[in-house]
Amino acid sequence: MAGEWRRHPKLLGKFLPDFPDDLQILVHDGGPRLSTKFAEAVWVTVTGTDGEVFRGRVLNQPTQLGAVRHGSDIRFVAAAGADYPVMVTDKYLAERGAWKITPCQKCGFDELFDAPSDLIRVIFPNLSADGQPAAFTTYCPLCGGVQLVAALGFAPPAAKKPWWRFWP
Ligand SMILES: [Zn+2]
Repeated sequence: MAGEWRRHPKLLGKFLPDFPDDLQILVHDGGPRLSTKFAEAVWVTVTGTDGEVFRGRVLNQPTQLGAVRHGSDIRFVAAAGADYPVMVTDKYLAERGAWKITPCQKCGFDELFDAPSDLIRVIFPNLSADGQPAAFTTYCPLCGGVQLVAALGFAPPAAKKPWWRFWP
């Protein structure tokens, strides 16, 4: 159905009255650990939807980004804590389902700008190629608060026991 996103509960009220497929999206080159560029809100015209993931074309030129330009086709999701829906990369979407993101303790943002594997590479530079932490913390790309990112199925240890001692 054409334009079914216009009534999607996560986007309702965000479209321009005269341009009912156009809304503002936060686009970026990655979060602060992977990029020095800041995120920008640009106008996007929605072209499709796949469940909670939307597709759209960027209508104006970001001032300082490299990954996104006028005419770029992007995907985006509506996220808690953010004023605008945020751009997501294919790599992020491919990895997102394996992780639980605890919302930022300051603003409530519950997505990341970067794929978890890219963050892990920067945060744990000495990790072996097949190693993966069960959980890590990172800085919220919106406000600089802290987000906890945990592999699904990972539960933090109930009691702190020194790892160097043997516990039966
Ligand atoms: Zn935040």
